[in-house]
Amino acid sequence: MTKTLNLKTEIIAVGSELLSPGFRETNSLFISGRLEDLGIVISFKTIVGDDVADLRAALGAALKRSGLIVVTGGLGPTEDDRTREVTAGVLRRKLVFSPAIEARIRDRFRKRGLRLPASNKKQSFVIAGAEVLENDHGTAPGLWVSRASRRIVLLPGPPHELEPMFDNSVLPRLREISPGFTLRRTLKITGLSESLMEDRIKGVYSGVPPNGRIITLASPGELQIIISITGRDDRESSEAALTGLEKRLRDRLGERVFSTDGESLEEVVGRLLSLRGRTVACAESCSGGLLGHRLTGIPGSSRYFLESLVTYSDAAKTRLLGVAGSLIAAHGAVSAPVAEAMARGVMEGSGADYGLAVTGIAGPGGATETKPVGLVYTAVAWRGGASVERSVFLGMRSFVKFQSSQKALDQLRLRLIAEEFEK
Ligand code: ATP
Repeated sequence: MTKTLNLKTEIIAVGSELLSPGFRETNSLFISGRLEDLGIVISFKTIVGDDVADLRAALGAALKRSGLIVVTGGLGPTEDDRTREVTAGVLRRKLVFSPAIEARIRDRFRKRGLRLPASNKKQSFVIAGAEVLENDHGTAPGLWVSRASRRIVLLPGPPHELEPMFDNSVLPRLREISPGFTLRRTLKITGLSESLMEDRIKGVYSGVPPNGRIITLASPGELQIIISITGRDDRESSEAALTGLEKRLRDRLGERVFSTDGESLEEVVGRLLSLRGRTVACAESCSGGLLGHRLTGIPGSSRYFLESLVTYSDAAKTRLLGVAGSLIAAHGAVSAPVAEAMARGVMEGSGADYGLAVTGIAGPGGATETKPVGLVYTAVAWRGGASVERSVFLGMRSFVKFQSSQKALDQLRLRLIAEEFEK
């Protein structure tokens, strides 16, 4: 029988610098990823400055509610590094001098031709009863403290010290007390707003097993649904539960789901073009080259990507794509007929199998009474036809540009899928 721990888990990151604007606290991201792989879900994360009373309060709260507490930072030699002392105090344990640790630190300095500075001496003290976690990349050892069903782990702050220590010393200990796992899949979705997606999938939530989770993330032009199942010895049934969950979401979202294995939209489009031996060329106005940039960001894109022309001015649309000046005069550059003519023009001019075009108003200026900021026409042309879509995207200029490229890529993806069914 495996010993079971109270696995309510939290992370406390210590250091005043972590609270300053612009500093990215990354240790907790690393740790939560590793813990999730073991099926351990984080309940709380705290960032606390180098203030003894605040640290004491954070630790006290954590001890009341959590069984696994991972503390990072504040094990160094300086005056403000107080994690070891404060934790000992909160646990009502003594700090005990360890000659072995001191000898190891002294040796580290000696190898560099240096004497042991007096300030490093405090790193040789350990909390009574704690196990010492070796630090191969720095001076501060980590500590693993057991108190009844609780485990408190103290780790150094610098990521290059913490990460190997976590993998070498903490993970094996955690595997012993929690031999679990998390299975995850990410569904990526485009062409739906977050609320429309929620309406479609809300019936799925009630069927999520107690060891399962659905998390949704939204960004302009793309939604993600992360589904996960945590388990212990039941990998096969967990796989089946995850697949069941994925199927129920897919049934409700249909072709709006463009990937389940992390692929970006441009990767999916590139893969479909490659598989079918087809090529694409783009004509871009408001996306300003973003379509071409995204498509050429994928290794091997030279197999299917021929060119992207950034035809921002009316004159460029006429000169480079052959869009009739009279068509632009009649409908305006931001219009369905011009989008279609751009897509056809670049397809003909390049000899590609598909032409993809974007024309719109990225803002913040440029709106007219009938054409608001964010109005975008996207078109895909193929040998024998074309389709045009009208969208109004919200948000700042960069969002409108991204969503325009996303919409155009999705239109091509859907065309490629439809052609499979037409065969
Ligand atoms: P030492 O002082 O011996 O290097 P320490 O355990 O006292 O070790 P800190 O002084 O708390 O570590 O942090 C040292 C540096 O490590 C920080 O200045 C920061 O650059 C980085 N660091 C600390 N904690 C984090 C964190 N949670 N996320 C990202 N970086 C961190």
